[in-house]
Amino acid sequence: MTQLQTLIEEIPKYQPGADLAVLERAYRFSERSHRGQQRASGEPYLSHPLEVASLLVAFKMDVTTVTAGLLHDVLEDTGATKAELEREFGKEIAELVDGVTKLGKLAFSSREERQAENFRKMLVAMARDLRVLMIKMADRLHNMRTLDYLAQDRGRKIAQETLDIYAPLAHRLGMAKVKAELEDLALRTLSPDAYVDLQKRVAKRRLEREADINHVITIIERKLREVGIESQIRGRPKHFYSIFKKMHDQGREFDEIYDLTAVRAITNSVRDCYGALGVIHSLWKPVPGRFKDFIAMPKVNMYQSLHTTVIGPKGDPVEIQIRTWEMHRIAEEGIAAHWLYKEKKTGKDKLDESLAWLRQLIETQQDTKDPREFLDSVRVDLFPDEVYVFTPKGDVKALPDGATPIDFAFAVHTKVGEHCVGAKVNGKLVPLRTTLRQGDIVEIVTSSNQHPSRDWLKFVKSTRARAKINQWLKIEERARSIELGRELFEREAKKYRLNPAALLTGEEMARAAADLGYPTADDVLAAVGYGKASVHQLLNKLAPGATLDTVERPRTAAGTRPKTDQGVRIRGVDDLLVRFAKCCNPLPGDQIVGFITRGRGLTVHARDCLTVAKSVLDRERLINVEWDVEAPALEPAKRPVRIAVYIGNDRPGLLSEITGAIGSKNGNITKAEVTVTDDRRGINNFVVEVADLSQLQDIMTAIREVPDVINVERVRGL
Ligand code: MN
Repeated sequence: MTQLQTLIEEIPKYQPGADLAVLERAYRFSERSHRGQQRASGEPYLSHPLEVASLLVAFKMDVTTVTAGLLHDVLEDTGATKAELEREFGKEIAELVDGVTKLGKLAFSSREERQAENFRKMLVAMARDLRVLMIKMADRLHNMRTLDYLAQDRGRKIAQETLDIYAPLAHRLGMAKVKAELEDLALRTLSPDAYVDLQKRVAKRRLEREADINHVITIIERKLREVGIESQIRGRPKHFYSIFKKMHDQGREFDEIYDLTAVRAITNSVRDCYGALGVIHSLWKPVPGRFKDFIAMPKVNMYQSLHTTVIGPKGDPVEIQIRTWEMHRIAEEGIAAHWLYKEKKTGKDKLDESLAWLRQLIETQQDTKDPREFLDSVRVDLFPDEVYVFTPKGDVKALPDGATPIDFAFAVHTKVGEHCVGAKVNGKLVPLRTTLRQGDIVEIVTSSNQHPSRDWLKFVKSTRARAKINQWLKIEERARSIELGRELFEREAKKYRLNPAALLTGEEMARAAADLGYPTADDVLAAVGYGKASVHQLLNKLAPGATLDTVERPRTAAGTRPKTDQGVRIRGVDDLLVRFAKCCNPLPGDQIVGFITRGRGLTVHARDCLTVAKSVLDRERLINVEWDVEAPALEPAKRPVRIAVYIGNDRPGLLSEITGAIGSKNGNITKAEVTVTDDRRGINNFVVEVADLSQLQDIMTAIREVPDVINVERVRGL
């Protein structure tokens, strides 16, 4: 009961009128719940929540938080329920205890700094109420103090987690004292030899060091008294871990770090701080560039002090910090001191304000050496807009609210994102557009055949995933265009009996590309593939005159005419690149649309073609094309088209009348199929070569005028 008595005596000193009855009830509840349980040390379990509550009192937390501290392990370790806590102590305390319990279930395993940062953020996000975090801090501190009783590997794991997560968090919270103690305790467990060694060296040097420091202190004190500034000057002991880390990180000797004289002057007012600074600078020469005014410009964690370094009485540098008592308290206690300042505000404002401040704290990494990393952490818009999810190995990924497995996959690795075919959330297969929730465990299924799809852009939330998908689509599109451009070029070159391979790999190619305004050969091929540049332009650059000179030669000399589908110009696309889709067989004059086919050039479909309408084709690859009527081919090509003629009454001479009608409009019949049924009705199918749609229409009109023809239809496809 003595410890409870201390709490009851201490709390009213900083929180007058606190409800101490609820504290006493919580003590009894906790005592009853943990009865029979023991700590690893063999002490009754109750000693732990009592110590945690005492630490919270030392942090000067309000009575609600201290009460929750007394109860913080009852949900985790005893049969007590949240509903029970709520009934006994109200919603606020029940929520606090529940929050601490949830944090206790998170285990951090990765050693990666980025992961650690995410984990720290997740702790804060999940804590929601800042007081939950304070209870967790007190809990961790007491567990670290009693770590020796645990099995070695378990102790090491907790110590490492403390070093990775809780000590940096304490630093962000401005809790310098807690941070130093956590680090030293962790060092003692993780590197016991180094710890003992430092302990010995510090003890050995302490006396002479103290003499030096006391000498400096005496001089400053006397001078300040002379000018009427009341102050307390102290030496600033460095904690073991900070010496250890500096020796390791900066490769410096123990003496270099330990021998640096550092003192702190605490005064009664801001005016006295500046006064003391003037006195010290008049005593010893200040080191240029080492003066920092954190009073005029406080750090984000509200730290205020004047920092300066002077050349001391022995000719060695002396680091001096000057601050008021109030500043000192904030520097040592951080968030806890802040908490008290806000005490007078209403509960909600207080919390919002503290959280806003905390957010800023965590977002702004003052001690980050890499400015990009700093920007990255600042750029995370609003803290609550993030969701934290786990990899199956327990790494934490921070994603924007509403993120999907695709976002997660790209956060893991670009390759994982690009080949993501499916995802398991908490062991269950889910659609890729599923929204991830706080704490989900996400596993990505990949396949080397899978590639990013434009559809993904409709639901991804992270800028990273979006950028990576766009990047992939762009590269893919370019690769496709280069391939298509090369194909078109090769075909055209062969037509003029040029060697495409030689042309493409020769030095001329780079020059031709430059002449046409493209940086590289690939760029000009891509432009041809896109239809932005013409293959003729390129050929003319590479083999000037060759195309014009030889244009008639293959036809006359070799007697091989180009196929009929080549020689129809389509605006924006070189004529020789074009195929006409067999499914709809468009004629000049038809509304058309182009479709890029890998390795086969451009296929032209009728705009009303069913294949297009049914979206069987990849819409990305459809491009607008039109017939180029102003620049007809040298020799207008004929296109085959199929027509069906419905006959009402077959009679002698009818077929010749129909073919005559076709011939009268210059149609060249290449195929005719005549089908007559028993009732003398019939369908005659013709394939006729025509120049364009209007010629076809003339032919059809002429056929309709033949007696006994019921109807004439153009048949799509051939
Ligand atoms: Mn605990």
